[in-house]
Amino acid sequence: MNRQDTKTAEFLARIDAASDDLIALTQDLIQIPTLNPPGENYLQICEYLARRLAGRGFAIEMVRAYGTPGDSDKYPRWNVVARREGPRAGDCVHFNSHIDVVDVGQGWTYDPFGGELADGKIYGRGACDMKGGLATSIIAVEAFIDSWPDYSGAIEISGTADEETGGFGGVAYLAEKGFFTPERVQHVIIPEPLNKDRVCLGHRGVWWAEIETHGHIAHGSMPFLGDCAVRHMGAVMEEMEASLFPALALKRTDMPIVPEGAKQSTLNINSIHGGQKEQDDDFDGLPSPVVPDSCKMIIDRRFLLEENIDDVRQEMLDVLDKVQSEREKFRYDIRDMHEVLPTMTDKKAPVVATVSRAIEQVLEKSPEYVVSPGTYDQKHIDRIGRMKNCIAYGPGILDLAHQPDEYIAVQDMIDSAKVMGLALAELLTDQGA
Ligand SMILES: [Zn+2]
Repeated sequence: MNRQDTKTAEFLARIDAASDDLIALTQDLIQIPTLNPPGENYLQICEYLARRLAGRGFAIEMVRAYGTPGDSDKYPRWNVVARREGPRAGDCVHFNSHIDVVDVGQGWTYDPFGGELADGKIYGRGACDMKGGLATSIIAVEAFIDSWPDYSGAIEISGTADEETGGFGGVAYLAEKGFFTPERVQHVIIPEPLNKDRVCLGHRGVWWAEIETHGHIAHGSMPFLGDCAVRHMGAVMEEMEASLFPALALKRTDMPIVPEGAKQSTLNINSIHGGQKEQDDDFDGLPSPVVPDSCKMIIDRRFLLEENIDDVRQEMLDVLDKVQSEREKFRYDIRDMHEVLPTMTDKKAPVVATVSRAIEQVLEKSPEYVVSPGTYDQKHIDRIGRMKNCIAYGPGILDLAHQPDEYIAVQDMIDSAKVMGLALAELLTDQGA
């Protein structure tokens, strides 16, 4: 064995030896219930991370995203950014994990905030999405620092708020404050649960819009004196079925999106409502007889790298204009609600190539390259931070995210920690993987 092989072997043994620490860290993180909404215990989990990383020589910045959606004195949007400089100049590698978890829901057989270990799996809300990934990156970085204390450049670990609700009080805020810029950070790894042998390059685009059809209110016994907005919306939906959905099904992408069904453009009708407001369950009276003068539909359109957002919008406008040409009194409004452009990191980007080599070394197989059907915080790092050298890579099975009895397998975390550490060795030391 030469000196480098010895170092690598020593590092891999350190990760194996850190198994109990990794389990305890994951359990501690799960036991802080950071439900979002509303955004509970963000300060508590950031302080926990700050204490641990300050103890390992990291400089800590606690950042509250004042004024972002949901931020209040009751539910402040706290983030933590920890940075540790090596003794020599070089690149900065940043591990970004979101600290929030989604609602628990029904059907659990384990305590959602217990962090119970059973058969090599740790159970709890956020176990795979993504407190397990956060714990993995911390263990990887700590073992890396112990093995290569003279590394060049810097390592950052952040715990950020609100990914599940758009990331505005988290990564978007930090990017606006200059935490993600090509000058400060050169490589970003987001340990979302994409499976330990897959590298996620990016995600599809999103366009949400609200469409409203207008009518004219009248007595329900004489609908001919009014104009029913719900029937107008029905005509819109018929036209969508006839022309839009079939057209979307034909748009296929070269992006390696998983699952297979998301390799085309998709559109979900998120909600539809027309006429009187629905009454509360405890109200047992009758509605009044009126013709609806308004109907609103919210659409969630997911689009591909090959598509342009203006064309995506225009397709919907074409549907509405066609209906307008066929229905005399048809009037509508359309309002943009939210948009995210698709993004995909080049396979040749340094962080992709490095993590791929580390996967080959640890798992003895070639990595699979994937693209996510939905967005995650990479969108802000790309658009606001202008950082293209970014991937999602972390342990855990994506399908378990947001499910009851969510878990993370300890062995997957160990393997992923080895991959992350060897990637650091390639990026921040003169040791090739
Ligand atoms: Zn996540």
